Amino acid sequence: MSRLEVRDLTVGYEGGPVLHAVDVEVPHGELLAIVGPSGCGKTTLLRTIAGLLRAQSGEIRIGQRMVTTHGIHLAPEKRRIGWVPQDAALFPHLTVAENVAFGMLAGRGSARAARRAAKSDEVRRLLDLVDLAPLAHRAPGQLSGGQAQRVALARALAAGPELVLLDEPFGALDPMLRADLRAAVRELLRAEGVTGILVTHDQAEALSVADRVAVMRGGEVLQLGTPEEVYRTPATPWVAGFVGDAVFLPGVLHGDEVATAIGRLRAVPVADAAGLVPEDGADVTVLVRPEELRVVRADAASVADATAAHRADADRRADDGALDGIVTDVEYTGHDAMLALALADGVRLRARVTASGVVPRGTDVRVSVDGSVLAYRPEA
Ligand code: ADP
Ligand code: MG
Repeated sequence: MSRLEVRDLTVGYEGGPVLHAVDVEVPHGELLAIVGPSGCGKTTLLRTIAGLLRAQSGEIRIGQRMVTTHGIHLAPEKRRIGWVPQDAALFPHLTVAENVAFGMLAGRGSARAARRAAKSDEVRRLLDLVDLAPLAHRAPGQLSGGQAQRVALARALAAGPELVLLDEPFGALDPMLRADLRAAVRELLRAEGVTGILVTHDQAEALSVADRVAVMRGGEVLQLGTPEEVYRTPATPWVAGFVGDAVFLPGVLHGDEVATAIGRLRAVPVADAAGLVPEDGADVTVLVRPEELRVVRADAASVADATAAHRADADRRADDGALDGIVTDVEYTGHDAMLALALADGVRLRARVTASGVVPRGTDVRVSVDGSVLAYRPEA
């Protein structure tokens, strides 16, 4: 079993600490995605887990083995970790099969040993796994970016690692390839029963591919949870905005409601990192996801969502608490659309509607909020 546990990890360079008391856990066989702005310490965390950097304090445990703790630093080649870098970094003088074979030799290999091992059943199995068997004898220079990354993945898996670390491995690829490759990564890690960490700057990728998502900022993990938890109940407004589209409104909390520019909304107060919950009467920041806004044509002849149930629901809402507004812009994306709205009192919002709910620019609408919203203590 190769569960990863990182406890209270502090790591720095000459300039001072870059990671501050980081806790991360990845259960056996799960894929954790790490997202966060450039420079927040994602690569530093991966390099420390791999043993390429020494920790100032804290612990790292992989499966049953403590690999980093006070006074102990297990060498990288003894950690049974596979690494997939951003640029595949293949050996140009070795074929595809030989590059994969090199991974099997766990860093002690020579080109000659790799040539021999390239003929093994295990290399053939790995090449089949990443769908590259027909290209076994190609040179890396003759591969596309996506193919090269598949080779890097097979090479990382070749040594039978307990843990695979992927540092923005799809960064240089076009969107179609990215989608293909991330599905392949997830399938492969599952099939091999390997625990993985994927660093990505693409929040949609993180939410769609991972079992759990860690959101980092400034050397700290602000939240670690399932994609649903991170999206539906973000720990802070910043996390909310980082992992998805968000509308923020100032408000004042009154019991289980919050008074905002778009009316009184049912609200759930959220505790901050220090455990402080906004009190009754406090100023709060309200989070509304664009898809939680319901948009109905003002003439009510037709509504945003075409189903009868939605229509009845929307009509009822239009009578209690909906606001007048106008559609100022439409961003059509095929499966849905984002409507920019200006409300009568000057508030501007963005609402996501299904493709069938798109109304043209200039349409008078009524806007209400579906369900309850989250209320945060305003961020400093
Ligand atoms: P990310 O991968 O999230 O973009 P990094 O882990 O690469 O972030 O970097 C985190 C911080 O550490 C940044 O401020 C960066 O400038 C600094 N840093 C990274 N590598 C080094 C290094 N070798 N020496 C000194 N500072 C570094
Ligand atoms: Mg990085």
